[in-house]
Amino acid sequence: MADSSNPSAASTPESFPVTFADVEAAAARLEGVAHRTPVMTSRTADARAEGRLFFKCENLQRGGAFKFRGAYNAVAALSEGQRRQGVIAYSSGNHAQAVALAGRLQGVATTIVMPKDAPGAKVSATREYGGEIIFYDRYTENREEICAALAAERGATVIPPYDHPQVIAGQGTAARELFGAAGELDVLLVSLGGGGLLAGSALAAQALSPRCRVIGVEPEAGNDGQQSFRAGHVIRIPVPRSIADGALTTHLGENNFSIIQALVHEVVTVTDGMLVETMRFFAERMKIVVEPTGCLGAAAAFSKQHHRPGERVGILISGGNVDPTTYADLLRRATGAQV
Ligand SMILES: *Cc1c(COP(=O)(O)O)cnc(C)c1O
Repeated sequence: MADSSNPSAASTPESFPVTFADVEAAAARLEGVAHRTPVMTSRTADARAEGRLFFKCENLQRGGAFKFRGAYNAVAALSEGQRRQGVIAYSSGNHAQAVALAGRLQGVATTIVMPKDAPGAKVSATREYGGEIIFYDRYTENREEICAALAAERGATVIPPYDHPQVIAGQGTAARELFGAAGELDVLLVSLGGGGLLAGSALAAQALSPRCRVIGVEPEAGNDGQQSFRAGHVIRIPVPRSIADGALTTHLGENNFSIIQALVHEVVTVTDGMLVETMRFFAERMKIVVEPTGCLGAAAAFSKQHHRPGERVGILISGGNVDPTTYADLLRRATGAQV
């Protein structure tokens, strides 16, 4: 394994809170429910990155992001009694939408705790999917505490956005499909917030493309994952400020960290400026709407710092939910420069 930067990569998969078998089980539950999203290629992107890029388009997933996979899988794994009591989720947006949609599809009531400054498009989509919304202030209030109090009061089950075995297993199905469509890859670049997508992707890569270097990509302003990865334990940071609103987590999950520590090659960062240029590239050249957080992996590919020329590089485009006005403002900021 080309894993010189990760000395702890020898842990046995048996000690993980979730395994590739769970990813396979999630894939079976999601069959015919989640979209098998397209894998796009672009000669222009290949030329720009000096590699062969395979874009897994989870911006085209139901609910507009990969989060539907984990949320649906977690709701599907509940007991009959738990389903009757409903579920609660906290999220800055995409997980909220995903849980609301998963609940509606499976006849389970949903309550969503969202920050007051969540993007309007995400709030209205959550409401349209039938979720009851409770707002909180992300800079002064603790969402986990609000959720726990609500859960105790209502007897409902909390479905956290990333630190949960069934959520991780569900998120891993996106990379599983990517390897199924594109074959083995040299590098897989994955947006990193709390680590659900990265941990699930790493499990899929280990099983389906064991030599692939799985790399987490964070906004530079919120590099808690990189700090944690290097320190060997979970490090907490203040709420970061970045246009990557899906990756504004303050710390990795414990379940996520154990998998990331063992199977991920490294964690890298990109700037908001690189995200804006990448958003513009997707709009202009590939004709797809990708939210800032969804651009993390591609921005890292375009930096050409994490793969060698000609390598086969998988990129998980994690989501496409962005307010049209925000989207227009951000595109106006982009210069068209190669970053
Ligand atoms: C949630 C989210 C992420 C981060 O996923 P984690 O599982 O928390 O690491 C990245 N991109 C988008 C679009 C998201 O919605």
